[in-house]
Amino acid sequence: MHPPLTAKPAARITAEPAERTIVPVDLAGRAYDIVIGRGVLAELGERIAALRPKAAVAVVTDEHVAEHHLGAALGALDDAGLRSTRVVVPPGEASKSIAVFADVCDRILEARIGRSDLIVALGGGVVGDLTGYAAAAVRRGIDFVQVPTSLLAQVDSSIGGKTAINSRYGKNLIGAFHQPILVLADTALLDTLPQREFRAGYAELVKHGLINDENFFAWLESNWPEIFSGGPAREQAVAASCRIKAAIVARDERETGDRQLLNLGHTFGHALEAAAGFSDRLLHGEAIAIGMALAFAYSVQAGLAPVEDAERMRRHFEAVGLPTSIAQFPGDRPSVDTLMALIAQDKKVKQGRLTFILTRGIGAAFIADEVDPAEIRAFLERQFAEG
Ligand code: NAD
Repeated sequence: MHPPLTAKPAARITAEPAERTIVPVDLAGRAYDIVIGRGVLAELGERIAALRPKAAVAVVTDEHVAEHHLGAALGALDDAGLRSTRVVVPPGEASKSIAVFADVCDRILEARIGRSDLIVALGGGVVGDLTGYAAAAVRRGIDFVQVPTSLLAQVDSSIGGKTAINSRYGKNLIGAFHQPILVLADTALLDTLPQREFRAGYAELVKHGLINDENFFAWLESNWPEIFSGGPAREQAVAASCRIKAAIVARDERETGDRQLLNLGHTFGHALEAAAGFSDRLLHGEAIAIGMALAFAYSVQAGLAPVEDAERMRRHFEAVGLPTSIAQFPGDRPSVDTLMALIAQDKKVKQGRLTFILTRGIGAAFIADEVDPAEIRAFLERQFAEG
C-alpha cells in the first residue's frame, strides 16, 4: 500500500518493471530521473548505456562500500559492454579534503576519462560530494551518475546537484552545483549499512515530512519499523522523501529561497557537529535531529507552534532512537558561548541577524531571517538549565 502523500506520484513510469519507482527532477535542460527499487544496481550498465552508449566509466567509491558492492557495480557495467576503472578512497569525512580530491581527479585523468565519458559516485554522502565536485572540475565538467549507498545519500545528498569538499575554514566551502544525469537508489544496498548510520539518515528523511508534509510524517510514525527492517515501506519512504526534495530543488536550485527549508535543524545542528569536531562522536544526522528538536522547542517558546506538535515530533524521534536534546551531546557539552560563536560563523548570518528555519507545526516550516541572536542565547541558556 502506498502512503497517503500529498506529493504527487511521478508521471513518467512507462515501461518500467512494477517494482521500480521513477522520481523525475525537473530542471530546465538538465532534468534527470531518480530510479528507486531493490536490486536496481544490476541495471547500472544498461541504464548508463541507454544514456551514454560507449562511454568509459570511472567508479569512485570508498573502502567500506567497495567491500560490499563494488563487484556488483563493475559487473553490471561489464555486462553492458562498458569499460570501467575503479577509484577507491578511504571512508569518512576526511576524504572530502583537497588532497583526496586532487588524487581522485588525477586518477580519473589517468584512466583517460574524457568529456563524453562518465563518472559514477558509488557511496554515501562523502563519496557523492567528493565525486560530484571532481566531475564538475575535471576537463571543466564531465557527466556523472549518483549511486547512493547510505540512507542519507538516497534521500538527500545525491539529489539536487550540491557538490563540495571541506576547507580548513569549514565544511563544504569549496564546491560547485553540478547535477547528476541519473540517480540510481538501490534500497537493498542499505542492508549492509551500520544501524547507527541508517538511523542518522532517517533524520534527514523524517525532516522532509516535518518541513511540508504532515501526512508523510504520520505515515512514518506507523511504518518506521518496516523502513528499518527493509520491507516495501523502505522504498516507499525513500521515494516519497525524494519527491519532496526534488520538488523543492526544482523550485529553487541555487538555494536563494525555498531550498533553505531543507536546512531545518541545521543551524543548531551544525554548531553541535562543529563542537564535536565533525567526528564519529556525533553523526550529521544525529546533530540535526537535536537541531530539529531545538527548532521546534524555540518555535513553541516564540508562540509560533503548538506544544503538542513539538511533543509529537520528540516522541517519534525517541521511538526510533534519535537524540532530541543537548543533554544527549556525547562527552563534555559545549558552553552556550561556544555554540553562539559557532552559530554566528554559520553562513546564514546577515547583518547581525540570524536566519533560522522555524515552524508553525509539523509540515509547516518557514524561513525566519530576522531572528535576534540575544533571543537564541536566552533560549539556549534555558535549554542548558533544563537539561
Ligand atoms: P558517509 O558517506 O561517510 O557514509 C557513512 C558510512 O557508511 C561510511 O563509513 C561509509 O563507508 C559507510 N557506508 C555507506 N554506504 C554503505 C553501505 N551500503 N554498506 C556499508 N557501509 C556503507 O556519510 P553519509 O552520512 O552518507 O553522508 C554524509 C556527508 O553527506 C557529509 O559530508 C555531508 O556534508 C554530506 N551531505 C551532502 C548533502 C548535499 O546536498 N550534497 C546533503 C546532506 C549531507
